[in-house]
Amino acid sequence: MKNFQFLFILFLFAISVSAQKIKYEVSFPNILHHEAQIAVVVEHIPQQSLVFRMSRSSPGRYATHEFGKNVYAVKAFDKAGKPVFVNRTDGDAYIIPSYKGYVKLEYTLYANYADGTYAGIDIGGVHLNMPASFMWVKGADQVPIQIEFELPNKNWQIATQLKPGNRPTSFSAPGLQYFMDSPVRMANLISKKWELINPDGKKYGFELALDAKAADSSAQSFANKVKRITQEAQAVFGELPNYDYGKYVFLASINPYVKGDGMEHRNSTMISLPIVFSDNNGLLEVFAHEFFHCWNVERIRPKTIEPFNFEKSNMSDGLWCAEGFTQYYGSLIMRRAALDDDASFVSTVGSLINTKMNTTGARRFSPVESSKHAVFVDAGVAVDKTNYPNMYTSYYPYGAAIALALDLALRTKFTNLNVDGYMTALWKKFGKTEIAYTVAGLQEALISYTGNKDFATDFFDKYINGHEPYDYATPLKQAGIMLKQPQLGKAWWGTVRYADANNLTIQNNTILGTPIYEAGLDVDDKIVELNDMTVSKSSQVDSIVRSYKPGDKIKIGYLHRGEKQVTELTFSESPLFQATLFEKEGLPVTSEIIAFRKKWFGTKVQ
Ligand SMILES: [Zn+2]
Repeated sequence: MKNFQFLFILFLFAISVSAQKIKYEVSFPNILHHEAQIAVVVEHIPQQSLVFRMSRSSPGRYATHEFGKNVYAVKAFDKAGKPVFVNRTDGDAYIIPSYKGYVKLEYTLYANYADGTYAGIDIGGVHLNMPASFMWVKGADQVPIQIEFELPNKNWQIATQLKPGNRPTSFSAPGLQYFMDSPVRMANLISKKWELINPDGKKYGFELALDAKAADSSAQSFANKVKRITQEAQAVFGELPNYDYGKYVFLASINPYVKGDGMEHRNSTMISLPIVFSDNNGLLEVFAHEFFHCWNVERIRPKTIEPFNFEKSNMSDGLWCAEGFTQYYGSLIMRRAALDDDASFVSTVGSLINTKMNTTGARRFSPVESSKHAVFVDAGVAVDKTNYPNMYTSYYPYGAAIALALDLALRTKFTNLNVDGYMTALWKKFGKTEIAYTVAGLQEALISYTGNKDFATDFFDKYINGHEPYDYATPLKQAGIMLKQPQLGKAWWGTVRYADANNLTIQNNTILGTPIYEAGLDVDDKIVELNDMTVSKSSQVDSIVRSYKPGDKIKIGYLHRGEKQVTELTFSESPLFQATLFEKEGLPVTSEIIAFRKKWFGTKVQ
């Protein structure tokens, strides 16, 4: 009897959980005007009232976005089709005060911005990023979700990482987190497929679902290159992740009507490039970057973004690794897959070094602090001015510059250690196990990987939790790369952008520590005189500056809010770095250099 009661209770419980259902129905009756009609049926949720809401953040996008603004005509009905009272209690929240086990909420979505963050609805194609499109029920995160689309064009196909259903238009997700992470692209798609095999023999399917005006042969050639990227990335970690439904899909819209973006997801990426498609290697770096994310950030995941909060963006201290190291690998994989050449890779190296050494944000703040500012900068929208040029350097290139520093340090201070090995160690510790990491955990992993506590602690103290300068020049010599500062000895007053060639109104915040900043000039000031001589063209200014030497002084007359001011400026010299190959400098390229380069940026595919 006791056992029977227990079983009976368990049975009731099982019924109540399995009966909980959320189902979306999506149609496009007014596609010409970029609208979708969305209905969501919510059944058997154990709540007396339901709160439906639009998100304010989106997986992979770290700033806050107000997706609620493009939702309207919200109505609710009971099972008999009778209207149910629905009350808007916040910009993005709608409450059904009396819920009796069934409600169908309907609304109109306007979407005309196809990129990885927002949504775009057009007769040319539909592009849905889920948080920008779908209201969800608070407190029902674990309830399985079904979705059914009514295709607006019978020639279209649907590409997504959602679990396929029994029709080509029906899909499902095990819960809210996966559903929100699964963008959908529908259009007349060109599909190219390939397979890769893991060392354990397990096969995974890959698809390039391309929305572009492309000849089949150029789409195939492009897909072959994307395949090379997937192979080189697999070689970094030694294996592919166990994709949830055995498959990874590149949702790629390459046409002038989308907005430029790339957004990673667990088993897919949404890439939108606003250009006419061509089989051009220049388009591929974003594929390399986003694909690397299926390890780094989707599974090797910072604890600070797990679980993802859809009501308010998560602040993370780990984006220098999640995004910055991924950015480094975007360039490295392009070179390893021979989709880029040595000179272009080395020019990227130079630009990363300038980010670390010559941007004010990186000179003043650590990569950890830069990461925390993402909640405002990652496509965050505001109208007021900021002082980012003086206090913020993006964790993308900044983190990539730290990855470069770590890679060079490991390759030159140790035998057979490198960032590939460190990433593989992170994969084994945090990725495969899906145990979210802390920054301290990353440091512990570097201690274990190198077996050298002093090195790892010093590296994290100085360059990840700190912002000390890094000596790139010495290790780069081993790769036959020369780091020069070609502007030394030439007069310079800082980087200044004028309104145009004939209007010397300064458009940018002047940069802390540069002569023009120290002389007191700032954004919106207009230079009118140099040494009492009237100037009005940028070419005049450039030629006058060229006639001076570092340390010389010049009198500047300028207008601040229309009032004439005069100041004195002392020229310095630009610290800008440039990286070049030894062969360009006429220096010998030894067999050691060739071997170093091969290990660093030669192919890793057997
Ligand atoms: Zn990224």
